[in-house]
Amino acid sequence: MQKTILLLPGDGIGPEVVSEAKRVLAKVADYAGVTFDFPEAHLGGVAYDETGSPFPAETLEQAKAADAILLGAVGGPKWEALDYSVRPERGLLGIRKELGLFANLRPAICFDALADASSLKHEHIAGLDIMIVRELTGGIYFGEPRGVRVEGNERVGFNTLVYKESEIERIARVALDMAQKRNQRLCSVDKANVLEATELWREVVQKVRDAEYPDIELSHMYVDNASMQLVRNPKQFDVMVTTNMFGDILSDCAAMLTGSLGMLPSASLGAEINGKRAALYEPVHGSAPDIAGQGIANPIATILSAAMLLRYSFDMGDWADQVEAAVAKVLADGKRTGDIKGKAEKAIGTREMGDAILEALETTAAQAAA
Ligand code: NAD
Repeated sequence: MQKTILLLPGDGIGPEVVSEAKRVLAKVADYAGVTFDFPEAHLGGVAYDETGSPFPAETLEQAKAADAILLGAVGGPKWEALDYSVRPERGLLGIRKELGLFANLRPAICFDALADASSLKHEHIAGLDIMIVRELTGGIYFGEPRGVRVEGNERVGFNTLVYKESEIERIARVALDMAQKRNQRLCSVDKANVLEATELWREVVQKVRDAEYPDIELSHMYVDNASMQLVRNPKQFDVMVTTNMFGDILSDCAAMLTGSLGMLPSASLGAEINGKRAALYEPVHGSAPDIAGQGIANPIATILSAAMLLRYSFDMGDWADQVEAAVAKVLADGKRTGDIKGKAEKAIGTREMGDAILEALETTAAQAAA
């Protein structure tokens, strides 16, 4: 097997954390006897500096040709005064749009060794493993008409929550597939008691489940209740699927249950065309300009994003499990970067954390082979 993984290191700590994830992927390729090529391209502020555009045409071309994409982060104070149209964040929105990445997967997993870092009690959080599937290219963030108009003597702001049946069906399938690979349980979150668009959402998710996934246990929950349940008893959930805006809010809420931004991976998937699905993997955190260039960023979110890449783009779930097990081992051994260390603990740097994970991977891979 030969695969191309396009690296988009981006800005700030992006290059530092992507380089550790690349080492992990290269090691997996070695062990698994497959070949990964790692071309690199620019996105974000660095792309603007090089080409005048945060999302150059060459990057789009390479993104379309790749089997999967691994992104660091974009943005930083250097580019904040630029016109909105060429700001680094436009690069990120641009690539999501051009590749049609409509499904955002945000796992919230709590590693045992970090359970005490959560704001929730240990018993509610230890062993937590939720997957939130958020619709990413529709809903109220993109609906028309939108804007601010003057009515009488005051301004009126308005946005439109709109979903086509086909948009709901395709995100429902991604979530139901995910549930099938996990524990056969899916909770769809809406506000069907108030919003007609999400009444349709509920109806269509149920229809897809009944017709195509009869073995999956599907429940529906109003978003206000879901947010409450996430902090009351998060372990009741396995896979959740929801609209763009509700997913934006709920995934951040679920993520913070697990502790630090430096630990959170994500994946954004497009439609499957000729057996190939566009897919971009990235840590949830930003470019962390306050610590960029110091070699102290936590690379785990990006390494866990690389594990998602193995699982969802290359069907290498066993290897993804091993990368995750290596991360768990390193944390259990007490290794911490600055963002996840307790007061009494000593922090290690980005490279040392990468080294420790590679070493642990060697052990877990040897155990798995035995
Ligand atoms: P941020 O995520 O970059 O940083 C927030 C805080 O978390 C900072 O104190 C940072 O040092 C810390 N942090 C983040 N990741 C870390 C890691 N891996 N290891 C250790 N500490 C880490 O968010 P911000 O400060 O709001 O934004 C900074 C820049 O990043 C802005 O330009 C913003 O637009 C951009 N941003 C980009 C993305 C993306 O590329 N997907 C996402 C969010 C923000």
